[in-house]
Formats: sequence, C-alpha cells, structure tokens
Amino acid sequence: MTARIIDGKDIAAGFSQAVANAVKHVTEEHRIEPGLAVVLVGDNPASEIYVRSKTAKTAAVNMRSLFYKLPATVPEAELLEQIERLNQDPTVHGILVQLPLPPQIDSRKVIEAIAPLKDVDGFHPLTAGLLSTGLPGIVPCTPLACIMLAKKVHGSLAGLEAVVIGRSNIVGKPLAQLLLMENATVTIAHSKTRDLPEVCRRGDIVFAAVGQPEMVRGDWIKPGATVIDVGINRVSAGQGKTKIVGDVAYTEVAEIAGAITPVPGGVGPMTIACLMLNTLKAACAQNNLPPPDVAA
Ligand code: NAP
Repeated sequence: MTARIIDGKDIAAGFSQAVANAVKHVTEEHRIEPGLAVVLVGDNPASEIYVRSKTAKTAAVNMRSLFYKLPATVPEAELLEQIERLNQDPTVHGILVQLPLPPQIDSRKVIEAIAPLKDVDGFHPLTAGLLSTGLPGIVPCTPLACIMLAKKVHGSLAGLEAVVIGRSNIVGKPLAQLLLMENATVTIAHSKTRDLPEVCRRGDIVFAAVGQPEMVRGDWIKPGATVIDVGINRVSAGQGKTKIVGDVAYTEVAEIAGAITPVPGGVGPMTIACLMLNTLKAACAQNNLPPPDVAA
C-alpha cells in the first residue's frame, strides 16, 4: 500500500483564504481589525523561523501584525510588563509568546500572565480547563490542526481508535480532549508506555507528538491507518547540512498507512492557519460578536 499524502500546505492555504474572507467581513462590517502580537525572546534560530512565518501569515489574512523582539538576557519582570501592556491594548486581540524561553524566565508565569481572552495559543490553564470540561473557548492551534487534517481523511472520527503518542500540555493532552469530543476512543501513550509498537498497532489513527526523529516505524502501524506526524526535528543531512524530519519514519510508514502527513508540509502550516482562526475568534469574542463561521 502507498499512503495518500495529506497535503497540509494545500489544505492550510484553502483554510487561510476562508479566514482572510472572514477577517475582511469583520473589518468591513464592524470596523475591527484583528491584531496579533508576537513576542520573541532571544535568537533561537528555529523560533526566528516560526515567528517570521506567523507574522507573514498574519498580514496575508488581512490582520494587523505586531512583533516584539526582546534580548535573551531580558529579566522576567520586563517580559511580564510587556505582556501586561499588550493585555491592556484594545487593538491587540491575540498575544503569542514564542517558546522556549531562556532559563531565567519561568514559562508557566508567562503563560499565566496572558489575558485568557487573548490567549490564542490556548496554553493558559483557564483555556485548558474550558477545553477539558467541553466549554466553548480557544482551542490550542496544533491539536486543532491535527483534528482538522484527520477529518479530511475520515470525515467523522466517531468510534475510531485513536492513539496519541505524547502527553504534553501543548499537544498530546489537548489533542486527546479534542478526540474525545469527536467521539473517538483514545489511548494516550508516553515514555513509560509498555510495548508502544503494539499500542500503536491498535490505532485507526496514530498521532505522533514526541520530539524523537523518525521513532514511529512501519511495523508499528496497522495497514491502512491514518498517521498524523506532529514532530519537528532537525537532524544531520550529511556534509554539514541539516534537514527537518518528523517523529515518523515517513518512507517506511507511507508503505503501510492509508494516509499520512509529511514533515515539513503537514501539521506545521495547518497550525499557523489555526492561529489565524484563533486570533479572529478572540477579536470577535472581545467585541461581543458571535464566533466567525469559517468552514474547514
Ligand atoms: P514535549 O513537551 O517534549 O513532550 C513529548 C512527549 O513525548 C512527552 O509526553 C514524552 O513522554 C513523550 N515521549 C518522549 N520520548 C518518548 C518515547 N521514546 N516513547 C514514547 N513517548 C515519548 O514535546 P511537545 O511540545 O508535545 O512536542 C512534540 C513534538 O511536536 C516536537 O517535535 C515538537 O517540535 C513538535 N511540535 C510541532 C508543532 C507544529 O506546529 N507542527 C507544534 C508543537 C510541537 P513523558 O511525558 O513520559 O516524558
């Protein structure tokens, strides 16, 4: 079997266009220009790339993009003051602080400092609580992207066996919550899971969010299953060069799976499109407008 490739880049382009249209409508009808502020601390090259693509995409969907770069040595208090200024600014509807942060800064404090209504990453404990109790609120971008891509293959996820490898607060746990809301039967695996290959073989859909290059092998996958690869790992490509690979051994798994996301070009671009949706949703909520109707 050769898997169908779930083209995240293409799907994200279509979805971003729908978000851009909805932004235009909100701007014209209600005179609100949704604004996203991105804060980068330090010079982590990967973070620089992510931030650049987020700010470019913000402008591309007709939203206001603000960018704040702080030195790697910035004291925690100064970063928290910057966040508070953005919390108070009515023209800023979404705030994203790019992780990871330098060691002198407590990421948890930073996440909790962002006003929940402007928490477009969806990492605030209040946002996580809303999601886990099934109440309306912002949904973290990467898990939302995973669900949208899986639904492109399956339509409904109801009754499917879903295996999520990884239990982080930003990907694995919220993804499992969303899968439950979609009526999938969910297994969450992690570094202490016994016989992970056998657990994965149960999955009609396997989501890999581990941070281990090409860990998921072909014989871990049930023939015909869908594989969504969240991982972004930089590895050596020989001759001093590097390349990005996922958490899934792509070539091997594509021989067995029914559908698979590539890395790059799968979950990554869809995650950014979901960030745009979240910023638009936040702008609507802050102006007492109904949530935007953007078809996936
Ligand atoms: P994380 O916080 O480091 O969590 C990794 C999870 O994987 C943990 O739950 C860990 O288990 C589990 N794990 C690690 N090694 C394992 C092993 N050998 N077997 C089974 N489970 C193992 O990472 P994250 O933030 O969730 O990110 C995961 C990956 O997704 C990374 O590659 C990251 O770069 C990528 N990512 C991509 C996007 C995107 O837009 N595409 C967004 C966010 C993250 P324990 O809990 O037991 O330690």
